[in-house]
Amino acid sequence: MLRRTKILATLGPATDQPGVLEGMFEAGLDFVRMNFSHGSAQDHINRANAVRELSLKTGRLVGILADLQGPKIRIARFKDTKVFLDEGQDFSLDINFDPLAGDNTQVGITYEPLALEVKPGSRLLLDDGRIVLDVVNVENMRVNCKVIVGGDLSNNKGINLLGGGLSAAALTDKDKEDIKTIAIMKCDYVAISFPRTAEDLHEARRLLVAAGCHAGIVAKVERAEALDVIDEIILASDAVMVARGDLGVEIGDANLPAVQKMLIKRTRELNRVAITATQMMESMIDNPIPTRAEVFDVANAVYDGTDVIMLSAETASGKHPIKAIEAMHRVCIEAEKQAVVRVSSHRIDQRFERVDEAIAMSTMYLANHTKVNGIAALTESGSTPLWMSRISSGIPIFAFSPHSETLGRVTLYRGVFPVLFTHDLKDHAEVNRAILAKLKKRGVAVNGDTFIITKGDLEGEQGGTNALKVVTIGEGLTP
Ligand code: PEP
Repeated sequence: MLRRTKILATLGPATDQPGVLEGMFEAGLDFVRMNFSHGSAQDHINRANAVRELSLKTGRLVGILADLQGPKIRIARFKDTKVFLDEGQDFSLDINFDPLAGDNTQVGITYEPLALEVKPGSRLLLDDGRIVLDVVNVENMRVNCKVIVGGDLSNNKGINLLGGGLSAAALTDKDKEDIKTIAIMKCDYVAISFPRTAEDLHEARRLLVAAGCHAGIVAKVERAEALDVIDEIILASDAVMVARGDLGVEIGDANLPAVQKMLIKRTRELNRVAITATQMMESMIDNPIPTRAEVFDVANAVYDGTDVIMLSAETASGKHPIKAIEAMHRVCIEAEKQAVVRVSSHRIDQRFERVDEAIAMSTMYLANHTKVNGIAALTESGSTPLWMSRISSGIPIFAFSPHSETLGRVTLYRGVFPVLFTHDLKDHAEVNRAILAKLKKRGVAVNGDTFIITKGDLEGEQGGTNALKVVTIGEGLTP
C-alpha cells in the first residue's frame, strides 16, 4: 500500500554517517529539511548533492526544503557553558553585558529591543519553556527577572515572550545571505521562521525570486500574533508548518492541539499544504521504538489531515534516524486505512470559476464514489494534483509532469506521487497508453485496473486541464 502522508526528515550529523541516508530512502523518506540554524552553507550544499545523487540512483524523488533560521531571540553565553537557576532567585538579561561572561545572576542577550518590549509582569520562557522568568522591572536596557521555574540553563538558548509580541523582523541579515546559498541548491521549498504578517512572506518571495529561486514558500506558524492574521499568512504561502516548538511556548502547550486542528483544516480549505512539526517521535532520539503517545500523535496528525509529518532532532542528531522513519511509515499506513481519512464533503456545495479546478473536483468525486485504482493527472504547474489532494481520499494521485520543479513541489502533497513524463504525442489515445505503460512499469497498475486520466489539449497552445477520461487497462488500452 502506498503511504499518502509524506515524511519530511531533518538532515544533520547523524544522517551524514555512511549508509544512513540510503537507509532513510529505503525506509520511505519523501523530503529532507536543511536546518539553516545549524551547520555551514557548505554542509547544506554537500547534503543537497547527496540527496540529488541518491534520487537519481534509486529513482525515488526526494524533495529538499531549506529552513531559514529567522530572528530566534537568544541569550548569549555563560563563562562556564551552563548555570543552574533556583526557583525564586533573581536573574537579569542585559544587552550591554559581556556576551561571553554570563553567570547565575545575569547573562547577555542578542536582541536589542527586548528591554523596550517587556514590562513588569511579562513572562519569558527560555529553552522551549523549560525555564520560566517573570519580569520584575527594566533598568536602562537591563531586564531584571524572578525565576519562576528553575533548572539548568546553557549557552545560546532561545527566549520567547508568553503571548507573543516581540517585534523582530522575520528576515535577518543571515537569512538574506542564506537565500543566496538556497538559490544555488535549487531547493523545492523554503521555510520562513517567525513570520508575523503576510508581508514577511511576500518579502521572502521577492528576495528568493531576485536570487533566481522559485521555490515554494512555507510559513512556519510559531508566533502568537501570526494566528490573528492566519488567512493572510496561509494565502501568502504555498505550505504552512505547525511549528509546535516555538508556537507551544508562545500560546501555551494546552492550546496546541486545537490550534493544530484549526491550522491544518484552514490550510487545506485554502488549497495550501500542511506540515505538522516538532517532537513527533522525540523519544526516538535515544530509543529504537516510539512511545505509545508518539504513535497516537502521528496517527492523530494523519486524522487531522496533515500532508506532511516532520522529524527534527530524531533524524538530524538522534541515534535511530532510519527507525524513526520506519516507525512513522507504519503508523501512517495503519492510520490511513481508517474511513475517516478517506471520505470528504469538502467543497461539495461550491461553484468553481475555473474549468481545471472543476475537473479536479469532479475527478475526486468520481474517484471517491466508484471503483477506481488511481488517478493520473498531467500537469504543468502542479495545480490540478494540489486541488485533488485537498479532498480526502484513499485513491493515489500520480502527477505526470516534464518539469522537475513541479515534480519537486507535488512530492509534498498528501496522496500525490510524482512521475517524470515527457512526450510529443498529439493523439489522446496514444498519450493514455503511454501513461498506463508508465504506471505498469512502476508496479502501481496491472491489467484490469481502472484509472482516471486528466489532461489539457495536446495541440496548439498548452492550455489548462479540460478533460477527464476513465480507462480500464486491457480494454483496448493495453500498453
Ligand atoms: C518549531 O519551533 O516547532 C520549529 C519547527 O522550529 P525550529 O525547529 O526551526 O526551531
